[in-house]
Amino acid sequence: MNIKEIHNLFLKCKSLSIDTRKIEKDSMFFAIKGENFDANTFAREALERGALFVIIDNPSYLIDERTIVVENSLRTLQELAKFHRQYLNISIVALTGSNGKTTTKELINVVLAQKYKAKATVGNLNNHIGVPLTLLSFTNETEIGIVEMGANHKKEIEFLCSIAQPDYGYITNFGKAHLEGFGGIEGVIEGKSEMYKYLASNNKLVFVNLEDPIQVDKTKEIKKYTFGIDRNEADVKINSIEANPFVIIGYKDFMVSSNLIGLYNANNINAAVAIGTYFEVSNIEIKTAIENYIPTNNRSQLIRKGSFEIILDAYNANPSSMAVAVTNFLQLDNSHKIIILGDMFELGNESQQEHKIIVDSLADQNQSTVYLIGKSFFGNFIANEKLHFFETFEDFAEYLKINKFKEESTILIKGSRGMALERTLDFL
Ligand code: ATP
Ligand code: MG
Repeated sequence: MNIKEIHNLFLKCKSLSIDTRKIEKDSMFFAIKGENFDANTFAREALERGALFVIIDNPSYLIDERTIVVENSLRTLQELAKFHRQYLNISIVALTGSNGKTTTKELINVVLAQKYKAKATVGNLNNHIGVPLTLLSFTNETEIGIVEMGANHKKEIEFLCSIAQPDYGYITNFGKAHLEGFGGIEGVIEGKSEMYKYLASNNKLVFVNLEDPIQVDKTKEIKKYTFGIDRNEADVKINSIEANPFVIIGYKDFMVSSNLIGLYNANNINAAVAIGTYFEVSNIEIKTAIENYIPTNNRSQLIRKGSFEIILDAYNANPSSMAVAVTNFLQLDNSHKIIILGDMFELGNESQQEHKIIVDSLADQNQSTVYLIGKSFFGNFIANEKLHFFETFEDFAEYLKINKFKEESTILIKGSRGMALERTLDFL
């Protein structure tokens, strides 16, 4: 069966699923081989649970005309998404970058939803499976689709762009994330810039944050729409940004008060303001949308526990997001501050060096007591009365059972997902 025929069947279905736990009635089910199990074995169950068609890549699970055997289910899913993109008559905004993709995506979505039928990537479904699923969730009823694209090695963004074929693109930043897979920061820049390459060669438009010299440098030859802080040359001029701890930006003659913590979020908000302005969403609608947006994922949450005020950012961490989080935190003028950081993963050869940079920067300040947790931080131990090192979370937990933090402290918690630093809350 060719891809056009599969697409015709897909259009008859109400939804598409790859998750055996979420097979819906009248859906198309793609049996994809995972690391741990082979979804082909669920073909029969999918049909029993009401799937209209099941795509399999192992003919021994063929049941009847509702099972469609293909060479490779994952590849067919990607081809189907690409085919569907050509069938869709909608505008697509694609986002990539090292940090801030999901936040920016959510903000753009709420802003554009004020005026359009906008639809965006659900959660963090941003990889070689997530992007096809996102595309396939768009219909011709959708007016603007917003697609988050993640990558941890080169050629991935190029591939995802070939599927999503975006009309507009924005790269949130070029930071030190997934250094291992990209082979250093130059690799990150090259890898993310694949989106610029795609947009340039198709005469499409990029949004550019003039505060980021790399964005400016890499988009010289491309059609663009720009934003910046207090810059007259920008298409959208942001007048001011502040964070105390929630970010407030000044735009035109009004202020937008967000529910986002951390000055780095000003970049994400500014991007949403600029993109909304480009698509002619009114200023008041942009303001309303951003002010009503409350982050739902467990990133940068402000939590109160007892007398403590806690900025919890235990979802992920990499050198650039950690550096901005720490800088921003140290700028707060709260009296008693505590920083709790966990190891940053996936840094390959640069891990030792990147942990050391954080340790050194914290050794130089005297505004906050610091707790550093994990093997990589521990490997960079230095004697400093402000810094406390723990090799494991368990060691830190033992410490917290005996030592109590000062009442009324403001606490920053950040580390890679695998460190699960939200566990700290149980011991405060
Ligand atoms: P993922 O790679 O997990 O999909 P993401 O790029 O979607 O991440 P978000 O989930 O929006 O990013 O934010 C993750 C963390 O990145 C935030 O909690 C914050 O620490 C940091 N961050 C967010 N925006 C920026 C930014 N513009 N610049 C630097 N760091 C940022
Ligand atoms: Mg994300």
